This record gives sequence, C-alpha cells and structure tokens, in this order.
Amino acid sequence: MLELLIESSSSGEHYAVTFTREGTNLRTSCTCPAGQKGIHCKHRLSLLAGDLSSIVGEVPADIGAQLAALLPGSDVERVLEQLRVAEAGVTAAQAEVKRVKKALDRVMHS
Ligand SMILES: [Zn+2]
Repeated sequence: MLELLIESSSSGEHYAVTFTREGTNLRTSCTCPAGQKGIHCKHRLSLLAGDLSSIVGEVPADIGAQLAALLPGSDVERVLEQLRVAEAGVTAAQAEVKRVKKALDRVMHS
C-alpha cells in the first residue's frame, strides 16, 4: 500500500491518500470530505495523473514511478477511459447543439 499526505489547494487541509494495487484492482482512499462519502476526488486523480505538487511531508524519491505504475492495466484506468469517451461525447453534443441553433437562426430570419 502506498500512503501519501497531501495538502488541499483550496482549503489548505491535509488529507491522507492511499493506493493499493492487487492484480487489475486498484483501490484508493482519501480522508477528504468527498473521499469519506465514497466519491472519487481530485486528490487521488491528480496524483494518478502524475501531479505531485500536493504532496507534503516525507516524499519517497521514486514516488513518481510508484504512482505511474498504479494505473496501467487497472480497473480504474479502464473506467477513466470510459469517462474520457463520455466527456468527449458531451463536448461533441454541445458543438452540435450550437451548430443546429445557428441553423435555426438562419432559417427563421430568411
Ligand atoms: Zn480527496
């Protein structure tokens, strides 16, 4: 298990974040309010994305490599990819709504 102490950029509070990888299962926890409710939080996601800037206290020298090894091939990586695809779908749908509204403007004002 990898345990890190981080500082919230918004509140300045310190939270403990843990990562445990067993096979393809990556379990995580964070003591922040969202983490306590079982909601994925930005603290864990930013660490998994390689942002080490929130880490406070003693930092293992190879922490970047340890964090980078957690995600590949994991269930969390698989669902993060589904989220990326879903968010791209939202972006495309928003662009289509904008395009169709402009088309409506054209047909209503001609
Ligand atoms: Zn958190």
